[in-house]
Amino acid sequence: MIDFSLTNEQKRLLDLTRDFSAKEIRPIALEYDLDGTYPEAILKKAYELGLMYTNIPETYGGSGMDYVTHYIVTEALNYDCCAIGQMLGISHLSTGAILLGGTEEKKKKFLGQMTKSYRSGSFCLTEPEAGSDAGAMRTKAEKQGDGYVVNGAKCYITNGGYADLLCLFATVDTSLGTKGICCFAIPRDTPGISVGRTEDKMGHRALNVTEILFEDVKLTSENLIGEEGQGFKLAMMALDRGRVNVTAVCTGIAQKAFDEAVSWARERKQFGQAIGNFQGIHFMLADMNALIMASRAMYLQAGWMLDQNMRCSTEAATAKCFASDAAMKVTTDAVQILAGSGYMRGTVVEKLMRDAKLPQIFEGTNQINRIVAGRGVLSNRSILF
Ligand SMILES: Cc1cc2nc3c(=O)[nH]c(=O)nc-3n(C[C@H](O)[C@H](O)[C@H](O)COP(=O)(O)OP(=O)(O)OC[C@H]3O[C@@H](n4cnc5c(N)ncnc54)[C@H](O)[C@@H]3O)c2cc1C
Repeated sequence: MIDFSLTNEQKRLLDLTRDFSAKEIRPIALEYDLDGTYPEAILKKAYELGLMYTNIPETYGGSGMDYVTHYIVTEALNYDCCAIGQMLGISHLSTGAILLGGTEEKKKKFLGQMTKSYRSGSFCLTEPEAGSDAGAMRTKAEKQGDGYVVNGAKCYITNGGYADLLCLFATVDTSLGTKGICCFAIPRDTPGISVGRTEDKMGHRALNVTEILFEDVKLTSENLIGEEGQGFKLAMMALDRGRVNVTAVCTGIAQKAFDEAVSWARERKQFGQAIGNFQGIHFMLADMNALIMASRAMYLQAGWMLDQNMRCSTEAATAKCFASDAAMKVTTDAVQILAGSGYMRGTVVEKLMRDAKLPQIFEGTNQINRIVAGRGVLSNRSILF
């Protein structure tokens, strides 16, 4: 029943991705981290190779990978720099609600337009006063005739400065709570949309994160995805998939930190021998490897569930918490093994430790994900085994 062997096509894609990452991302990862550079040239090359839009069906201009394959490729794309890896993969979250709730015509129209360029999309949910409590959003979609007029502000939006397509969540009536929230697909060039502050971040420095402002943005019913009031449900379903994606991202971060620690343990000599000969280092490496193996197994399981059209909210939230905590622990331990050499600015493990913090915060903090996972367990919503 369980088979971890990759198909020939999966092997080909993994080789292609690893080769791309080693040649295009590895050489510039530290430099782009320092400057917070938008990785435009890399996005263009990945786009040409079919390594962007990997999970979007071919009918809408994507590469049409199943979830398991997409997540395997995602781990590899995030190995050398997760900030660049996530700029490459942001469409997975930003188009999730549109893929789930859009009609065939709307998917062809909005996703088809987006996939013509490498600039991708943005998922616009968070607001200054509505972070964990996203249902308390204030961005208003006021009904006017057959359409809507949107006013409000979203913050911490990944790819906000560049995205061609925005997946926006806004409410028609705040008194309805989450039942008033709608999902809209909006081309960036729609009048009234502007970019606010660009964030200067601790890690993930090449990830573009901005405010997006909406001022009298006129939409028609054509922009509405799903029914009025279905937006919050679509956002949560997109986040189920996004959290599995974060699990794959974290596995890539942790694997890179682990590989750096192993090669240092082989080379660094103290007390007349390689530090890898000391049992204290064996124990650390064994625990780090266990966390990586478990993280990978979790995204493969949840990805498989998605490929079978099974609901995986509990598994996705559990996996996201586990893998992001694991990446934080593994990167911290990698810095410990490299010690003084790992603590200095401009070293790979120092960057990885800063990068590992973000996945504990976004796509729902780990506290919120533990609430989702805990409630799921209590409602018997964990269905495998
Ligand atoms: C770099 C970056 C990129 C991001 N990209 C996007 C994006 O593309 N699109 C988007 O929409 N959002 C994005 N976000 C926003 C992200 O999802 C939010 O930051 C996150 O949901 C937390 O919201 P908050 O920062 O307002 O924290 P708050 O909600 O203010 O939480 C503060 C603290 O309180 C805790 N807390 C809150 N409620 C509870 C509770 N009920 N029980 C226990 N603890 C609780 C939290 O866990 C946290 O520790 C991004 C954030 C960052 C930092």
